[in-house]
Amino acid sequence: DISRSIFSGFHRLSLEERCARVAAELGLSDAELAALTGEEGLGAEKAYSMVENALGYFSLPLGLGLHLRVNGRAYVAPMVIEEASVIAAVSFAAKLVGSAGGFIAEAEPSLMVGQIQLTRYGDPAWAQEHILAARSELLDLANALQPQLVRRGGGAKDLEVRLLDAPEGPQGEPLLVVHFLIDTQEAMGANLINTMMEGVAPRIEELTGGRVFLRILSNLADRRLARSRCVIPEELLSDYGMPGADIAEGIVQASRFAQADPYRAATHNKGIMNGIDAIALATGQDWRAIEAGAHAYAARTGRYGPLSTWKREDGNLVGEIELPLALGTVGGPLLVHPGVKAAFKVLGQPGARELACLFASVGLAQNLAAVRALGSVGIQKGHMALHARSVAVSAGTPPEWVETVAARLVQQGEVKVDRARRVLGELKG
Ligand code: NDP
Repeated sequence: DISRSIFSGFHRLSLEERCARVAAELGLSDAELAALTGEEGLGAEKAYSMVENALGYFSLPLGLGLHLRVNGRAYVAPMVIEEASVIAAVSFAAKLVGSAGGFIAEAEPSLMVGQIQLTRYGDPAWAQEHILAARSELLDLANALQPQLVRRGGGAKDLEVRLLDAPEGPQGEPLLVVHFLIDTQEAMGANLINTMMEGVAPRIEELTGGRVFLRILSNLADRRLARSRCVIPEELLSDYGMPGADIAEGIVQASRFAQADPYRAATHNKGIMNGIDAIALATGQDWRAIEAGAHAYAARTGRYGPLSTWKREDGNLVGEIELPLALGTVGGPLLVHPGVKAAFKVLGQPGARELACLFASVGLAQNLAAVRALGSVGIQKGHMALHARSVAVSAGTPPEWVETVAARLVQQGEVKVDRARRVLGELKG
């Protein structure tokens, strides 16, 4: 169990010691370590090939989420984020869940939805029938556009025709949308799907005499859900001088609150995405796509709700999360960014579905840490201690004094840049 033994006490090591330990324990070459730390990461030339009008690249901190155990496997999770306390929260909660056997997770096959919007088709029932009658021809046509994907076992698997109420169209007709269900295997799939949708659209126009407007994937990837679950004996939760049962009750109250109130659910889910976005960035994923899918899924009933829930059962606290995760291990920036390649090595080269299991578990871990603090002593205590370091740095504190200034800010109960400057002035005499 690499996560537990070799990384205990990791947060107390210096930067150099951490790098040496990670390289040695995970078998990273000098080049891989330099790619991971950013020392030799994305250069200006690579950035130039990725976006338009490129000038350079932008850096963010990268840290390791530790102690994660998912389906019996230990993971060290590279996480990229500017917010203090997220990585600590994930590592803390992962350790807690790990001591109760770890997360149990599953991810559905990589089935995505491609949409084609058809208009001016005449009678809705007639159009629907004609499209469905040509189902296998349309699927074959879509698949002929991605033969490699089909050879790998993926491709267009099915189609549906949806008639939707919509704001008044030219002929007052309902909105007709053809949904293609496409298995994108190891790819996130946006480009694969968009190519297929643009390729089959003319045939749908021919079949119906209608006119196609939009042809693109949907980011509501609700056929590609990932789930993770943890069961923690309540006695393991005791902390802050409180019995485990009290902490569990606070967590369940937090869950009730999020289920009943979209104002709370938004913040509950933001915490989940703190963890998921951070590992998404480190692994080169399209995090806007993940965010769009997560929030659309959270609102699927017509009322925005939490992506995770917590309940008490037989002396245990049980947490569950479910969300769409359209992840890729091939394509896009994955091939270009050396840091992403190194991150995949750190993770043990997971496939897209295994990665989704890990992402869901990271989200649930972050959520557990948040609701545990929120439902008991409050979030500021832990948060401010970590935030104080970045406040100290913002105030111009030299590295060797950051810990001292941060500690004084927390001690004085005012974590502000002004105060940090004053503390620094006092230290300098
Ligand atoms: P790519 O266009 O890079 O496609 C992935 C490629 O990987 C495939 O074309 C395939 O090529 C190759 N491949 C190799 N091995 C496999 C495998 N085992 N399974 C699947 N494919 C494999 O990326 P995506 O299609 O995933 O598109 C993702 C990109 O699209 C992201 O960068 C995203 O930001 C962007 N995007 C997102 C949108 C959105 O979310 N709304 C809209 C438009 C773009 P081959 O079959 O030829 O070998």
